[in-house]
Amino acid sequence: MTDETEPSLATRLVGLGRNLEVPGGRAVNPPIVRMSTALFDSVAELRDFRARRDRERVITYGSRGTPTTHALEDLVTELEGGHRTRLFPTGLAAIVQVFLTWLRPGDHVLITDAVYQPVRTLAAGLLADFGIAVDWYAADGTDIEARIRPTTRLIYVEVPGSFAYEICDLPKIGTVARARGILVAADNTWGAGVLYRPLDLGADISLTAATKYLGGHSDVMMGSVTTTAEVWPRLTASCDAMGVTVGSDDAWLVLRGARTLTTRLAAHAAHALDVARWLEAHPAVRRVWSPALPSHPDHALWRRDFHGTNGLLSFALHRPDEAAVDAVIDALELFGIGASWGGYESLVMPADLSRARSVGAHPGPPPQFLIRLHIGLEDPADLIADLDRALAPLVDRPQSEADDR
Ligand SMILES: *Cc1c(COP(=O)(O)O)cnc(C)c1O
Repeated sequence: MTDETEPSLATRLVGLGRNLEVPGGRAVNPPIVRMSTALFDSVAELRDFRARRDRERVITYGSRGTPTTHALEDLVTELEGGHRTRLFPTGLAAIVQVFLTWLRPGDHVLITDAVYQPVRTLAAGLLADFGIAVDWYAADGTDIEARIRPTTRLIYVEVPGSFAYEICDLPKIGTVARARGILVAADNTWGAGVLYRPLDLGADISLTAATKYLGGHSDVMMGSVTTTAEVWPRLTASCDAMGVTVGSDDAWLVLRGARTLTTRLAAHAAHALDVARWLEAHPAVRRVWSPALPSHPDHALWRRDFHGTNGLLSFALHRPDEAAVDAVIDALELFGIGASWGGYESLVMPADLSRARSVGAHPGPPPQFLIRLHIGLEDPADLIADLDRALAPLVDRPQSEADDR
């Protein structure tokens, strides 16, 4: 009877609809493959793929990557000009993994004074708890050699630096480090693998917050670490040991965003330059920071090592007080107030440069309070009109800070 030969409905439901092979064309985009378990045809096949997975790109288990996360890894590897890439749930997680992979108790790491702020929290907390010594070097990198110790294992750069966009001479740092067997890791979030290529310039490790320009739409978090072939095995081993992975849905969103990366960056750059030049000529503005401006102290290095600029810039007012900065920000209508950047929309944030630097030596006289803009894809004429309106109350008395106190 059929009752004896055909499995019950509960059993058939487990197998139904799982093998969809339909003749016809192909989708433009890779599929989102969600998976934990990978299935094999035999024990021998399972053993074979497991034996190969540390060296080869094969599918064995979800935490080792899916076809979707591999697709994004390959895209980032190509951008960065590296050997291979691992993905992380956030940009900050990518940074932490770099430190935990290459530093051990008793080791010393040199970190740029211009670093993305949460790295300071990481250094004072987790790294200190693990007995890893940290020294900060000046954002232009000129004091690195003097700060190297026998225990220095890693030099961590972020180029350009946060808020003031200082640029260090990465090829020179790479030469100094290589001669002493020290690794160089670069935060390449600003360059997004398009405007800057640290691995070509002497770094061993390049990481990005793909949350920013790769994702590009303020709707997904992701980090990436790309390395040379020489240092790759240690990174991938530490990620596998810790079970670090990302979801395929998130990887797919970043893949989709990355298709328009160069086009978006070109528009961000053109719009940001329009705004930066306009701000430089404004009577209430004391100073504008963008490495693409000839007035930036590191403009020559930027021209030498970079392939363009992005949507970021900072400026300081003649008025030195925080209240003036807050009032300008609150008066803006087309700029969202919020952290992060790299999406299609314009953003504004207050920044305190004096708290973001510890060894000083950022170029020029140090104003404390800055306004950091991310210029989005809106018409720059509209953004300039918005800034003009927000700055108007300061125009009549640009030099009158003394009267206000
Ligand atoms: C935003 C940012 C990060 C961290 O990225 P998240 O995805 O927000 O964790 C790291 N480095 C730089 C330079 C950043 O701007």
